[in-house]
Amino acid sequence: MRSFMPTKVFCGENCLILNKHLFKALGEKALIVCGRSSAAASGALDDVLAALTDEGIRYEIYNGVLNNPTVLNAYEAGGKAAEFGADFIIGIGGGSPLDAAKAAAVYATNRIEPMEIYGETKNLPLPVAAIPTTAGTGSEVTPYSVLTIDRENPKVTVKGDHMFPKLAFLDHRYTKSLPADVAVHTALDALSHAVESILCKRNSYISEYIAREAIGILGEEIENTLKYPINPKSRERLLYASMLAGVAITHTGTTIIHSMGYSLTYFMDMPHGFANGALLPPFLRRAEKYAPREAAKVFSAMHLPGIDEFCELISRLLPNIPKVSEEDAEMMANVSIKNKNILQNLWSVTKDDEKAMFLEI
Ligand code: NAP
Ligand code: FE
Repeated sequence: MRSFMPTKVFCGENCLILNKHLFKALGEKALIVCGRSSAAASGALDDVLAALTDEGIRYEIYNGVLNNPTVLNAYEAGGKAAEFGADFIIGIGGGSPLDAAKAAAVYATNRIEPMEIYGETKNLPLPVAAIPTTAGTGSEVTPYSVLTIDRENPKVTVKGDHMFPKLAFLDHRYTKSLPADVAVHTALDALSHAVESILCKRNSYISEYIAREAIGILGEEIENTLKYPINPKSRERLLYASMLAGVAITHTGTTIIHSMGYSLTYFMDMPHGFANGALLPPFLRRAEKYAPREAAKVFSAMHLPGIDEFCELISRLLPNIPKVSEEDAEMMANVSIKNKNILQNLWSVTKDDEKAMFLEI
């Protein structure tokens, strides 16, 4: 068992402004990496700009991060950081900008071709400060950056101890502007992380303790993502739970839900959390059969009697999951079966098993 969690995490309203002096320790020049609109809409960008101005730190903004960022997208952000001579990077947004920021930090200090990020890199990346505006991926505390490549390898993760952000600021007010569907999908991603962490070969005492805590909170709060007006306490707990679920997968990695979900995103355009949420019922049905003790831990942490009630919850959260055709299921299973996540799964899985799961969503 190994535990290494080097990110300094701050939680609570105004935590960024209250700790703005920490930016100064990262350097004199910052590149802000974000998407088109979420950094501004969430209010996080205003806080960051105020903090940088107060601290006398120069900055530039790269706001071209796409959803499910490609390798080239992150490479472009890294080139901008190098050109500006940035000392550090601030990622603001959901998992897409945070992952792009983490990869950009590697490109900024290493003169490499885009795909060489998956090999050994000589120089340490620039330090990264991560400011999540979704409560889902936990990327602010993980050593992972998930990048989109091509139809053979839809999404592949850059990972390593050098990939952890140095700082994470979790202010739930930044998630208030989330569209309702994104709030639901991202919460399902967090739930999936915690569930997969328990149903993973690398599950340990530490990761399970954390994953159960995350599942307990998500079980209580996940349906509140559908309710208006937004309850700030609930948003705070969701952001906290998604960070905990990120800590859990930092210890264990993820399973076939994530590798199969990457295909649903790439080939069927399903948002990341939506895809994972849709795969949870077929996954947990199999977990009940092949890993009943671990499956029972998940249901008990959610205070649910069993799989039927879990499936009902998913249908309330995702009432319109599109059906996958026989042909698409075959094609996606051929792709997802090659992903290394399969090695972490608690029971062995064949291509036909994955095809059957795609047909069951
Ligand atoms: P996302 O792709 O970052 O964002 C989805 C959409 O929500 C975007 O249109 C974004 O706008 C918008 N948005 C985000 N925050 C908002 C806010 N507060 N107000 C209004 N709009 C907002 O979604 P995500 O689910 O958080 O991240 C998914 C990515 O994370 C995937 O690529 C996935 O593979 C990755 N991931 C990484 C890890 C990890 O450990 N590194 C773990 C799980 C998933 P903008 O386009 O303007 O930003
Ligand atoms: Fe995820």
